[in-house]
Amino acid sequence: MTAPALTGTAIDERYLRDWSGLVGGAPAELHRPLDTQAVAAIVRRCAAEGRRITVQGGMTGLAGGAVPDAGDVVINLERMNTIEEVDALEGVMRVQAGATLQAVQEAAMAAGWQFAVDLGARGSCQVGGNASTNAGGTRVLRYGTMRDAVLGVEAVLADGTVVNSLSRLVKNSSGLDPRFLFIGSEGTLGIITRLVLRLHPPTGQPAAAWVALDRFEALPLLLRALRRRLGHTLQAFEFMSGRFVALAASLTGQAAPLGSAARWHVLVEAAGAPGTSMDEALQEVLAEAMEAGGVVDAAFAASEAHRAAFWRLRESIPEVIGHLKPMAPLDVSIPWSQTEPWMNEVEAALQRALPQAEHLFLGHLGDNNVHLISGPVDAQGLHQVDEIAYAALRGRGGSISAEHGIGRMKKPWLGTTRTPEELALMRRLKQAMDPQGLLNPGRIID
Ligand code: FAD
Repeated sequence: MTAPALTGTAIDERYLRDWSGLVGGAPAELHRPLDTQAVAAIVRRCAAEGRRITVQGGMTGLAGGAVPDAGDVVINLERMNTIEEVDALEGVMRVQAGATLQAVQEAAMAAGWQFAVDLGARGSCQVGGNASTNAGGTRVLRYGTMRDAVLGVEAVLADGTVVNSLSRLVKNSSGLDPRFLFIGSEGTLGIITRLVLRLHPPTGQPAAAWVALDRFEALPLLLRALRRRLGHTLQAFEFMSGRFVALAASLTGQAAPLGSAARWHVLVEAAGAPGTSMDEALQEVLAEAMEAGGVVDAAFAASEAHRAAFWRLRESIPEVIGHLKPMAPLDVSIPWSQTEPWMNEVEAALQRALPQAEHLFLGHLGDNNVHLISGPVDAQGLHQVDEIAYAALRGRGGSISAEHGIGRMKKPWLGTTRTPEELALMRRLKQAMDPQGLLNPGRIID
């Protein structure tokens, strides 16, 4: 179904920027189609006229991928937000790509299941955007990323062809799997229009603890002990520097559960089957870790309100980003053994180069993901942060993006952690699927 395009001053400012801080040019047209056929019709016209397309989800991305160039045709998926079907027997859901993550989570819950991917921007980001960036979030340790959550994809190719690969099968070894062309390719190979999602059984009430540590090396040891003792019930291991905790607490007026004096803090969460409690097991592991050294204190969530307060503090990212802007939001992946040497090298170099800025480390350490927020910094400072952090990543077996994607911001750095052969393969795929280079040009790779 086609709806009229917005043009000129009718295009609201919010379609020009995402959370990276990058501001785009004025698009020639902004479309908010209602269904796949309407998306295909717009793309077919763009292909015939050689018009460049910017694809937009909820605009919560941190890599500038959804930010348009002047003159672009923008296709924003926000009206394609229908939850089409929930199979409450098998735990499978089919949705339009513009449904917000939160709407998907709520629909799953209403059917007696859960959609396990979760992240702070849940109320605004869309599952299509989540899939296109291979979003991770806070429960990757247990449930994996969007690559693990998507069973089937429908996408519109650069020539307007609709590829329906809406399989709902967990096992399907019948040749190449089109899903993986679109998950993580950030709208450069196709526009995701519908998704089949895998749901998980609900868990019991999670046990949560806020833990303070005085040295980084104790973090991976604690994580290993938790994994061995709690198995798959361990679902979050979110680490934060004391400096992040102090700033988040002061900006939001929340109390830090254990103050902010300790160098490192972790929010740990485990959940067993409904009706079971993981409190005792969690307390036992933490008591042992305190005896072993490194862990200096722990606070247990005594109620659901208490647990929610822990998460509110951890998820104070919008306030911290807002306070430090313009800022560089980095999200690298790095093996545990390399994490501390990388952070030490980067922190020392950043303090020398940009002493007036804050440099805050935090992340989902359980899945190798470390975030760095540096700001406020000017354009040259942004470049320096990238240069310092990515140079230190070389030879450490890491990735310049764990979950936010490459978009526009990280494109110049992709070769830091991808081989020339990997880059050449990406280029060949892009050339084969979008020979005119019309879909999200200027993102990931030329
Ligand atoms: P957008 O920002 O609109 O777009 C992102 C990219 O995907 C762009 O390149 C765009 O062109 C493309 N795209 C969007 N929709 C489609 C589609 N239907 N088909 C093809 N391409 C499309 N990310 C994490 O992974 N983990 C986190 O824990 C996390 N926490 C966050 C917390 C906050 C407070 C904020 C602001 C962001 C966070 N993010 C996190 C980043 C962001 O929310 C995710 O990257 C999210 O997946 C982006 O979804 P979106 O719908 O907003 O996409």
